[in-house]
Formats: sequence, structure tokens, C-alpha cells
Amino acid sequence: MTASGPARELPQIAAACPTCNAQPGDLCTSHSGTRVRRHDTHVTRTAAWLDTEEDGEK
Ligand SMILES: [Zn+2]
Repeated sequence: MTASGPARELPQIAAACPTCNAQPGDLCTSHSGTRVRRHDTHVTRTAAWLDTEEDGEK
């Protein structure tokens, strides 16, 4: 099953989420994975993505 939502357009979707373990391209989930966050992601995911962007050329 593929969930979709506005959050898929966010750039940090390209990174994995350290909070809910969402894989790159997947939406974040809350409540132990039972509920998809369609409109946003965890802030830690944005931070992880920014980290990847900055360190990506190592
Ligand atoms: Zn997440």
C-alpha cells in the first residue's frame, strides 16, 4: 500500500527519518507506525536531511 500526501513533496523525504525510521521516499508515521503524517515530517528528519546535504560531498 502506498500512502501519499503533500509531505511527499518535501525535500527531506529524500532522507530516512531517525524518529520513526521511515525510509527515503516514504512518509513519516506516528503512533508506532499506525498513522501516516501526510502533511509534514518529524523535525529530526529535516535536520537529518540538512546534515546529508551539508556532508554529502565527503
Ligand atoms: Zn519521522
